[in-house]
Amino acid sequence: MKRLDAASWFLLLAIGLSIVGLAYVVARAPAVPDAETTLYTATGPLEVAQNPLDADRTFRYLEEICRIGVRFSGSEGMQQQQALLTRHFEQLGGVVQRQEFRVRHPLTGQPVSMANLVVQWHPERRERILLCAHYDTRPFPDRDPDPQARRGVFVGANDGGSGVAVLMELAHLWSKYNGKLGVDYVLFDGEELVYDEDRDEYFLGSRYFAESYVRSPPAYRYRGAILLDMVGDKHLNLPQEHHSATWRDTRGMTQSIWKTAQQMGVREFIPRRGYQLRDDHLMLHDIAKIPACDIIDFDYGPPGQRVSYWHTREDTPDKCSGESMAKVGWVVWTWLSNLR
Ligand SMILES: [Zn+2]
Repeated sequence: MKRLDAASWFLLLAIGLSIVGLAYVVARAPAVPDAETTLYTATGPLEVAQNPLDADRTFRYLEEICRIGVRFSGSEGMQQQQALLTRHFEQLGGVVQRQEFRVRHPLTGQPVSMANLVVQWHPERRERILLCAHYDTRPFPDRDPDPQARRGVFVGANDGGSGVAVLMELAHLWSKYNGKLGVDYVLFDGEELVYDEDRDEYFLGSRYFAESYVRSPPAYRYRGAILLDMVGDKHLNLPQEHHSATWRDTRGMTQSIWKTAQQMGVREFIPRRGYQLRDDHLMLHDIAKIPACDIIDFDYGPPGQRVSYWHTREDTPDKCSGESMAKVGWVVWTWLSNLR
């Protein structure tokens, strides 16, 4: 996942200004109400049960994943993780499929085998929702404050592990899910097989997934997608990622999720706009035209200090908490259970 740099902002501003005129004309055309395309929860009182997610077990899942070690695309660790997750989801009744593809390694040019892991719950349902996370880790902690360490080990507890741990914990619940949608997980490979920010491509797995969805449309359709990325910080703060809060087909869903959290008293979901982030949800939205909300805490570190553990050696399980992850899972679960 990547923040926009200054040059990109400038370019966007230039493009934005030239679009404004056109947008004004378009805006005057009769609007299609968001409600037709977007998922909302009921407007009445929310049914909130106690948190059915087990925070301690969620944390143990995170530790289990991180104990494997580095899990970048094509690594031995990634293979171990795939085996672990396949076993876990199948034991809990999920239908697991690998969506395999190959890319050229950005350094060596050699082919790298990649696989998105797709898990289906209630596979017979035609209207589905996608819950996703990337499960590869960055090859190196290349933002570590110590230059010596930038070719060291990157564990990726929050960035790469936390979303997966939440999905592992949520997997215990789908047999009890009373909502009308089918649920698909997709764990994206190749989110950041990145050695050089300016040269290497992000989002290889989500791009492949989105392109396949367009190229060979399945018999079902995705009504929306929720991306979980960096949701494990002990000091969790979740403003609404900027794209998710502003895309026309997504903003209603995003507001609905945050409103659900508010009604539940989960104050970590903050109903204001946060960073604009480039993440896997861009591929789902731009290529596959799926409304896609990114739940992400980009301010990863102790509160009130100018310290970030993002892409450093410090991104380890002790900076994360089971409570944070279980709260995020609880909000997703409650929102899905209350869809009208
Ligand atoms: Zn990252």
